[in-house]
Amino acid sequence: MRIGHGYDAHRLTAGRPLVLGGVEIASPLGLEGHSDADVLCHAVTDALLGAAGLDDIGHWFPDTDPAYRGARSLDLLQRVSEMLAARGFAVGNVDVTVVAQRPALAPHRAAMRRNLARALGCGLDSVGLKATTEEGMGFTGAGEGIAAHAVVLLFSQKPDGPV
Ligand code: MG
Repeated sequence: MRIGHGYDAHRLTAGRPLVLGGVEIASPLGLEGHSDADVLCHAVTDALLGAAGLDDIGHWFPDTDPAYRGARSLDLLQRVSEMLAARGFAVGNVDVTVVAQRPALAPHRAAMRRNLARALGCGLDSVGLKATTEEGMGFTGAGEGIAAHAVVLLFSQKPDGPV
């Protein structure tokens, strides 16, 4: 078994879509970034890469590469998931916490979980997803940005460990 942790934060700004877990959410502010800035998918991707000892999301999808401008981060997550499968890893489960003062994410939670399960090739019951506020404190509380934390458990299917 391998455990991985991912954390990411992006700034909220006007004139950008708000995409979380591959779901576009109606909001006056969206997240700033080179890709679609899906902070939830970025945290999960880093957790996967961390568990596998494979560097981080910026290494595989550099924000200096025009190929990833506007990229759908859910697709990048799926690519990493497939990369890990090719190396003999299977996702045990993933657990994510999104920290956002607004908007409320509960109406979108089911769709986000479905997207994550599909991208990760695991069952819906292996995807935990919570949202919380920081009660007005700090940058998420002030509505300056949204953060996400993720942990993941991988199983190595190779008896002699990962390649
Ligand atoms: Mg990011």
